[in-house]
Amino acid sequence: MNYYSTNRQAPEATLEEAVVKGLASDRGLYMPEHIKALPKEFFDTIDTLSFHEIACRVAEAFFGDDIPKEDLDRIVCDTLAFDCPVAEVEPDIYSLELFHGPTLAFKDVGARFMARLLQYFIRKRDDSREVNVLVATSGDTGSAVANGFLGVDGIHVYVLYPKGKVSPIQECQFTTLGRNITAVEVDGVFDDCQRLVKSAFMDEELCSKMVLTSANSINVARFLPQAFYYFNAYARMKALGKADELVISVPSGNFGNITAGLFAHRMGLPVKRFIAANNANDIFYNYLLSGVYNPKASVQTIANAMDVGDPSNFARILDLYGNSHERITSLISGATYTDSQIRETMLNCYRHTGYILDPHGACGYRALKEGLREGETGVFLETAHPAKFKETVESALSAESASSAESALSAESASSAESTLSVEVAIPDRLAAFMQGRKQSTPMTADFADFKAYLMGR
Ligand SMILES: *Cc1c(COP(=O)(O)O)cnc(C)c1O
Repeated sequence: MNYYSTNRQAPEATLEEAVVKGLASDRGLYMPEHIKALPKEFFDTIDTLSFHEIACRVAEAFFGDDIPKEDLDRIVCDTLAFDCPVAEVEPDIYSLELFHGPTLAFKDVGARFMARLLQYFIRKRDDSREVNVLVATSGDTGSAVANGFLGVDGIHVYVLYPKGKVSPIQECQFTTLGRNITAVEVDGVFDDCQRLVKSAFMDEELCSKMVLTSANSINVARFLPQAFYYFNAYARMKALGKADELVISVPSGNFGNITAGLFAHRMGLPVKRFIAANNANDIFYNYLLSGVYNPKASVQTIANAMDVGDPSNFARILDLYGNSHERITSLISGATYTDSQIRETMLNCYRHTGYILDPHGACGYRALKEGLREGETGVFLETAHPAKFKETVESALSAESASSAESALSAESASSAESTLSVEVAIPDRLAAFMQGRKQSTPMTADFADFKAYLMGR
């Protein structure tokens, strides 16, 4: 199957080209030229299938023209070495838990799939040279990509991150791995990291010496596999007799995750409607209200993986619905929450149900609490484990910060010693293991000449 660019100015690409290039030459995003609908019989019996069986069927619809079934099934099953279960939070509201992977967030699914697909293509090539993946990160992408590629033969990953600007929990998830993962600590900000990566791709001398590729989140191999768990959510809800009027609420930043859900819907997944839940970065929310897309600089929030002011996958959503605002609003509604609303939601949900939300999932949960209609059942995507945001979550759940939850500032300070914690978020073993690892990173200036010399010397 071929892939076209949302800007329609670049030549169509094969799957391999789309995966290796990431972004089309006209700077558009790749889209599959067909989205195959799955047969009614599949949906009728889906509740009897396992997550792996479901994912293999969905993968075959996307990639079956390009990859033999046996290879594809192996890639899918290796990717999904962990479950994506649904858990009841309260009557009619369920959490699709996407945090059971190695870095405790949904990005593990796409990153692991991409690593294995890239490896598959590399093995088929005559070129036996190692492939180098460069990724700039402000925190979470780096850990998902590094862990997704960890131990994958033939690929070396360089994670560039801004010195002192990622949280210690995030940092340990990509600096302690070793093996085929190198963490590069750049003396600068995230934009410097991104500039170094982009300059490397444009440098002819470097590109003739080594094979370079990117693994950013707009890559079709990272984005499409996220459809797998929407089908699984439907199957598990159907088994409970709760799938007739399903509403799926997705905490959204760059909108890759929800777009994968929209692809699933196009393939026939019987979801009634979607909600895109935003933090204070309300660009999509405003688009739904006004029909005008007005990107702006992102603002910092406690749900920081959704701090995006110009969501890149918006182009894919427009393309999917022929630029029709009417079609988009008939299927998707929006919600936007301030930091104090997010804190309040984490506290209320915990008090009433005992379920601990992370700040991103809290947006998804609240959108269901406020938006679910009579007869509907809601599933929100719990995109990360609350332990990844331990301080923020514990401060929100402590009684002290609750009384001052109105003020974002005082809730911030409540995370320090003066608050009495009523709740401790347990750190899962796999996260604790990262935190005990030895940090290894290569210091780098923000000057491209230095980065280039380093890569040339490898
Ligand atoms: C990346 C991320 C999001 C946003 O997902 P998009 O696909 O960019 O919309 C939400 N929550 C968490 C925890 C994330 O890491």
